[in-house]
Amino acid sequence: IECADISLKDIDQVAKSSFPLCMRHLFEKLREDHHLKHGGRMQLGLFLKGVGLKLDDALAFWKAEFSRKVGAERFDKEYAYSIRHNYGKEGKRTDYTPYSCQKIISSTPGVGDHHGCPYRHFSEENLRAALNKMGVGNRAVEDVMDKVRSRHYQLACTLTFEAVHGASCDAGINHPNQYYIDSQKILES
Ligand code: SF4
Repeated sequence: IECADISLKDIDQVAKSSFPLCMRHLFEKLREDHHLKHGGRMQLGLFLKGVGLKLDDALAFWKAEFSRKVGAERFDKEYAYSIRHNYGKEGKRTDYTPYSCQKIISSTPGVGDHHGCPYRHFSEENLRAALNKMGVGNRAVEDVMDKVRSRHYQLACTLTFEAVHGASCDAGINHPNQYYIDSQKILES
């Protein structure tokens, strides 16, 4: 999935307007805690790569947060490698692709993890609060919760997309990077 590059100065704005809830949540937790566990770093890191964040910007982005928690030296020693690895610059030099909804939904986040799909993994209370924060109206929240109860998580995400953008998403959401691209298309038109 390709799209226009994203730059560091726009990233907070774009996270608010165009990231699906799974990525918004990771992004906010990273800004708040200056740390994410491995599953979260992979899920968000590969997504950001997919939205066009360049390797140098990715390193700067993660370092700015992690340095506040573990210090710059430890970041360089313990974390920078895996970011370069995700970009195919270390190890087997595989160019890793961002996770699909299916993969994220079937993940099993443990205590202290923030990855996964909020429609599947959040409590009802936390999900409602997150949807309110995204600006989803009461009526639409109930429609989303209906889909969640019948375990149609991607449809729940599609309804959220439609509520937030005031536009239909006929194809349905099946990949976080697709959510991003479709959102940008609407916002730019
Ligand atoms: Fe993310 Fe997909 Fe879940 Fe939406 S349905 S929150 S894009 S994993």
